[in-house]
Amino acid sequence: MLRRALLAVARSNSIKKATTRAPIARHVVQRFVPGETADDAVIATGQLVGARLSVSLDHLGEDTTTRKQADAIVSAYLDVLGRLAKAGLTAATEVSVKLSALGQSLADGDKVALANAEQICGAARTAGTTVTVDMEDHTTTDSTLEVVSELRKDFPGTGAVLQAYLYRTEADCRDLAYAGSRVRLCKGAYAEPESVAFHDRAEIDLSYVRCLKILMAGEGYPMLATHDPRLIEIGQWLAADRGRRLDSYEFQMLYGIRPTEQRRLANLGHRVRVYVPYGSDWYGYLVRRLAERPANLAFFARSLISKE
Ligand SMILES: Cc1cc2nc3c(=O)[nH]c(=O)nc-3n(C[C@H](O)[C@H](O)[C@H](O)COP(=O)(O)OP(=O)(O)OC[C@H]3O[C@@H](n4cnc5c(N)ncnc54)[C@H](O)[C@@H]3O)c2cc1C
Repeated sequence: MLRRALLAVARSNSIKKATTRAPIARHVVQRFVPGETADDAVIATGQLVGARLSVSLDHLGEDTTTRKQADAIVSAYLDVLGRLAKAGLTAATEVSVKLSALGQSLADGDKVALANAEQICGAARTAGTTVTVDMEDHTTTDSTLEVVSELRKDFPGTGAVLQAYLYRTEADCRDLAYAGSRVRLCKGAYAEPESVAFHDRAEIDLSYVRCLKILMAGEGYPMLATHDPRLIEIGQWLAADRGRRLDSYEFQMLYGIRPTEQRRLANLGHRVRVYVPYGSDWYGYLVRRLAERPANLAFFARSLISKE
């Protein structure tokens, strides 16, 4: 309830302006976003890779409304991929992209976003790495999966993302559980109507387990994006039960969330990838993180009234 209300209120432009202009907000943002520049991103990546973690870098941006904005996002990805390659970090680092940032909602948006994503995939291949296409709200699920399927023709390593809260996702898991298919499974972060998505947390968790069973039994490469201790344990158990090697799946978590658990799993020999967002357009990302957990809201509220 609180989560949906917060996600709805946060769409107001005046709230967005007030939040992004408050100097104190930056202090909260730093917990989830290591910095605004490509240099900040590469430094944070180097530190994580040094701690035996893998990384997926996300240049923050969504709801692009002009071609110019989309072009700027593409340039930012090309730039950071070049820097990662120079720093010798691409073996352990991929990038995540949002099609809305690449122009999906412009006129002829799917074509524009596909062409932009192809450019980024090409640069990623040159740099020695891959791309995962984030999943956004349910109105874009079909078109996003179509774009991923197009990208996979030339770039078979392109990752897809599926959201366990959508009723359709078990079927999508069946479709995508083929050899070589990298699939990130998350619970889902958007405010969706009951006509398309489970709202009850227990039902979402059960759906996650059903989906995970399909992916683990399949021939693809499951990427378990969750901080939920029970689901992480079930994931480990399913992988062992299916006789999967440690390099045939991975865990993924967000920068700043459960860092001790990230290291614990890596020390057990699991591949753990940390999703690292960077850039100045952090508002939408921050709101989704606050909405996920009431304790984060309290942290945010305290920082707004604190003078420190
Ligand atoms: C690598 C990665 C990529 C993702 N990509 C997408 C995507 O493309 N599309 C999409 O819709 N969603 C994406 N998500 C977000 C995801 O859908 C969930 O909203 C988010 O991960 C919280 O769900 P959870 O599985 O961690 O479980 P929850 O039940 O929300 O959380 C379980 C526990 O994790 C900790 N935790 C979770 N969230 C937070 C938080 N914000 N702050 C502090 N602690 C927290 C708490 O201890 C909590 O009790 C991604 C998540 C990850 C980890």
